[in-house]
Amino acid sequence: MECGSLPAGVRARAMSATWARAWLRASAAAVAEQRAWLTDLDAAIGDGDHGINLDRGLRRVLEALDGAETLVLPTGDLLEWAGRVIMGSVGGASGALYGRALQRAGGTLRAEAAAAAEPRDPPAPDGTSAPAGVQRAGPGHGPGDVVGRGPGDDPDGPSSSGPRNGAGDRVRVLVLAFDAAVEAIGALGRASPGDKTMLDVLVPASLALRRSMSEGDDVPAALSQALGAAALGLEATRPLVARRGRASYLGERSAGHLDPGAASSLLLVRALVSTCPDLPRDRRLPGD
Ligand code: ADP
Ligand code: MG
Repeated sequence: MECGSLPAGVRARAMSATWARAWLRASAAAVAEQRAWLTDLDAAIGDGDHGINLDRGLRRVLEALDGAETLVLPTGDLLEWAGRVIMGSVGGASGALYGRALQRAGGTLRAEAAAAAEPRDPPAPDGTSAPAGVQRAGPGHGPGDVVGRGPGDDPDGPSSSGPRNGAGDRVRVLVLAFDAAVEAIGALGRASPGDKTMLDVLVPASLALRRSMSEGDDVPAALSQALGAAALGLEATRPLVARRGRASYLGERSAGHLDPGAASSLLLVRALVSTCPDLPRDRRLPGD
């Protein structure tokens, strides 16, 4: 589908604050629903607190998500805020790792939004020309409308025209934000793919996003590639021997179990896909 069909003069944000909020909500719901599963996975090779910890942190995020202070935050700041809440309330390795990841992704989105806000094209004489690569469309075709809000209602707001605008650019910025999150986890946890951690889901997802970007896919197509890779990544943790985190204390006995952090990462990626505002209803995931 065409993600670049926007009302004239309005540029798509890679991730609107509306989408970010929907993602945080869907993540909290998924983790609450799968709390026992995550905790059982952690009980097998860790200390049995992963579902409880993450559920607590995401509940804290939800409690404040509609507060006056957070409602006005643009996407980057919102994710940074959520990262701080997670870091301060989840505890355990995953709190620090997910918290830092959200902060880095948020910082990247903030920097990209600032760069994109700089006007690049002189306005057309009638002031209505769409930027290169953006088709004109009537109201009701922008991403904000899919979720029932006009683009002007998003704290990120509409932006001036410029060439960085189409579906490809949105995928590019999503890739940057996703990579920033993944790199933050790798650096903080000193972990690599194959260590039986959340990175075994997040790195394949990020590589799939990159591949999709180079093939010119739109946002929903790129995200569904990422989700497929994430699901395979989780299953691939089963035979691995853990080299990082508590599970590494078990040595060879950690093999034969899914990694709990990889499992929660899959839930978060899945929530990102299921809340993508560009996704038409008939392509939403079952149960969403
Ligand atoms: P804790 O192990 O402190 O109890 P959690 O149970 O909340 O923390 O989270 C455990 C998950 O965190 C693991 O399954 C793994 O995916 C992830 N994890 C732990 N240590 C690391 C690390 N050094 N790098 C990357 N991920 C890690
Ligand atoms: Mg644990």
